[in-house]
Amino acid sequence: MAQPVIGVLALQGDVREHLEMLAGLGVTATAVRSEQQLGGVDALVIPGGESTTMWRLAGTFGLLDPLRERVRAGMPAYGSCAGMILLADRLHDAAAGQQTIGGIDVTVRRNAFGRQVDSFEADLDFPALADGAPIHAVFIRAPWVEDVGAGVEVLARVPAAPAAGEEGGPAAGRIVAVRQGSLLATSFHPELSGDPRVHALFLDIVTESVEGKG
Ligand code: GLN
Repeated sequence: MAQPVIGVLALQGDVREHLEMLAGLGVTATAVRSEQQLGGVDALVIPGGESTTMWRLAGTFGLLDPLRERVRAGMPAYGSCAGMILLADRLHDAAAGQQTIGGIDVTVRRNAFGRQVDSFEADLDFPALADGAPIHAVFIRAPWVEDVGAGVEVLARVPAAPAAGEEGGPAAGRIVAVRQGSLLATSFHPELSGDPRVHALFLDIVTESVEGKG
């Protein structure tokens, strides 16, 4: 079949970086900010940014229910950071009234790493990525995954010393990448660090899903 069309939810956040990453991998990627545009894509990337803002704008643009319906119907989706929050079934430290699209059977804690380590970088083992080399991960006011349901695969965790000069601490070992079926989420931002392998993994998931239907 024709190459699948990947959308990037373009309500707020680092949309351009995801579009560039996907273009670099040679796929057609397009910004999605209406129900009609959502209808034209086979899969969706939800960028990093601010999940409360995206949730409010999704409501304003009439996209929340259409997004939920597409995800429920099996559309592959990948969320980075705020996008992970939007794909979580449950939240800790949500803003008042904040809702998600859901789809991944996890509880995600917003801004989990705390003020001292607002933003940090770490090399993570992420064996599902091509060539198996660690990935350099950029975390910005990032969430972590507090618990996972039975159908969720844990793909990466924070290593034992998450930030320079820190030994262990509450972040050590926290789950920061998960997959459930054709839904993928990372607490960090591969679109900012320039490593295309998480997006490449997502494209493999999209291909599998499209072929599975064919
Ligand atoms: N803390 C942000 C939120 O709750 C996520 C931060 C990010 O995407 N870099 O949406």
